[in-house]
Amino acid sequence: MRYKNIFIDLDRTLWDFEANSAETFLEIFHKYEINKVCNFEEFFKKYREINDQMWSDYRAKLITKELLSWKRFHLCILHFGIDNEDIAKEMGKDYINLSPLKTRMFPYSTELLRHLSSKYKVYLITNGFKEVQYLKIKNCNIDTYFDKVFTSEEVGCNKPNREYFEFVLENTGANPENSIVIGDDLEVDIKGAAQLNIDTIWFNNNNGLTDFPVTFEVKSLKEITEIL
Ligand SMILES: [Mg+2]
Repeated sequence: MRYKNIFIDLDRTLWDFEANSAETFLEIFHKYEINKVCNFEEFFKKYREINDQMWSDYRAKLITKELLSWKRFHLCILHFGIDNEDIAKEMGKDYINLSPLKTRMFPYSTELLRHLSSKYKVYLITNGFKEVQYLKIKNCNIDTYFDKVFTSEEVGCNKPNREYFEFVLENTGANPENSIVIGDDLEVDIKGAAQLNIDTIWFNNNNGLTDFPVTFEVKSLKEITEIL
C-alpha cells in the first residue's frame, strides 16, 4: 500500500458549503427583514460576489478576519440601500454562529471517511476559522474520523501556500511519497499539494476542465474508495 496519509479538504469536498450557506442566509434574510428591500436571490448573489472578493483579500493578508466577518455584510446591505454597520455586525455574528450548525454533506461523505480511517491516517486540511470548522465537523458527526485537524487559522497560513503543506507534513510525520491530498479546488488543494509533489485526487463534481496533471479525478466521493 503506497499511501499512508490522507489529507482531505472540508468545504465543498465533504461539507456542502453552497447548500449550508444558502440555508443560513435564508434564516438571516428573514430575521433582519431584508426581504423589504430585495428578494433572496438578489441578496444572496450579491453577497457571494462580495464575499469571494473579500476572501481573496483576506488570503492576500490585505484585510483582517474581524473585518471580513462583518464588512462583507455591510457592503452587501449597503448595496441594497441599508447603511447600518451595527446590523451588519449582528448579521456577521449570526452567520458565524448559525452556518457551522448546518449539516448538509455531499453524498457518501461519512461512508468515505469511515472507509479511509479504517485503512489510513486521515487529516483534515481546511482554510477557515478554527471555531467555525470544528463546529461543522462536530455537528456532522465526522470529527472522530480525523487523526488531526489543520485549520489555516491555526497553521498560520492558507492553502495553497507551500508553507501550509510543509507544516502539515511536518506535524504528521508524513512525507510526499506516502501521502495524497483530496480536494475540490484546483488552485487551493491540487496545485498547492502538487508544489510538494504530493499525489492528488481532484473531486470535480462541477464538471470542471483542466490541463493540470491531477493524479486522479473523481466525480463522486464513492469513486475514491476504488482508488484508496
Ligand atoms: Mg474546498
